[in-house]
Amino acid sequence: MDLAADDAIFALYPRRIARAAQTFLTGFPGKVLYAVKANPHPALMRVLYDEGVRHFDVASIREIDLVAALCPDARMFLMHPIKSRATIQQAYARGVRDFSFDHADELQKIWDCTQGATDLNLYLRLALPQDNKTGSGAVMPLSGKFGASAQEAIELLRAARPHAQRLGLCFHVGSQCIDLSSYDCAISYARTIVDAAGVEIDMLDVGGGFPVAYPGMPTPPMIEYFAAIRDSVSAHGFDDIELLGEPGRALCAEGGSTLVRVELRKGTDLYINDGTYGSLFDAGQFAWKFPVCLLRNGPPEPASNTVGFRFFGPTCDSSDTMIGPFHLPADTGEGDWIEVQHLGAYGQALTTRFNGFYSDHTVAILED
Ligand SMILES: *Cc1c(COP(=O)(O)O)cnc(C)c1O
Repeated sequence: MDLAADDAIFALYPRRIARAAQTFLTGFPGKVLYAVKANPHPALMRVLYDEGVRHFDVASIREIDLVAALCPDARMFLMHPIKSRATIQQAYARGVRDFSFDHADELQKIWDCTQGATDLNLYLRLALPQDNKTGSGAVMPLSGKFGASAQEAIELLRAARPHAQRLGLCFHVGSQCIDLSSYDCAISYARTIVDAAGVEIDMLDVGGGFPVAYPGMPTPPMIEYFAAIRDSVSAHGFDDIELLGEPGRALCAEGGSTLVRVELRKGTDLYINDGTYGSLFDAGQFAWKFPVCLLRNGPPEPASNTVGFRFFGPTCDSSDTMIGPFHLPADTGEGDWIEVQHLGAYGQALTTRFNGFYSDHTVAILED
């Protein structure tokens, strides 16, 4: 790798990724599906696989190809509620049997494209009602786009039951869900739907949303989420059905960083070589304050006092701004490198090539 190049560098910490995988594999009371979109880097996928993750939540043929190439005996779940006909056909041909849907026409597409297969596991995606706590405990709500309403869900469960080998419900409480009670609210809501439909289900998929402790966003320990889900599943009579979860962020956020270089300093503004069109989308769009630390290789020693900086990315777009503030040694300036941490999820995965600024460099950091 040419370290003199101008590009940012993505760092992966395999040990942290492995620890996160173990937290879920040993603590989550059901099947753990890694949501590939959070970070599809092959090295990261490989660590998860080596730790024992065998189930993957995929959305596209390219994600299916990636998992198939890296993880030979993996089981893939196509949990995107709206898929092209070609995607359904190809997925089925490659062995995918688990599909989600949120509309009668999508259900029909799935049957058409699998020639009325009798070995399908179908998951009805619920839109979580916004009038109670479900869906509102997350920093990034995800019920605005997908999911069936209560009345639709009742009809769809009845329609799907005769054709599904196994039938389930799924939902997503929203990403970075910092309110522990959201899962219980959603599971309780799932119970009312199942009862109203008068249809037995075989699986309950509680989706993603498991949060990461970014600065300024305190989160309960993961073990409390697992306990809350376990208790809620029992309390609502779902003990005997299969439970699944789809963590993305929580499996990889702390296992990745972006190393950026300062190209110019103006007052407390640092112009750096990655930004909102790169891996820092959430820092720009949502003003998330990711943890930062200065990496200066050689003298002088960094100043001992810190200053709050704003970052500007390399593109010419003025939305390429990350207000922070990011606290760094007061003498941080041109030529210094900064590690922006907790970017393993939705960081590298979101990068574009806009304006010719992007990076293909990923390194593994074996220390902690
Ligand atoms: C994005 C997504 C996930 C992962 O969500 P996180 O909040 O990163 O855990 C899981 N399931 C589905 C269907 C998704 O779209």
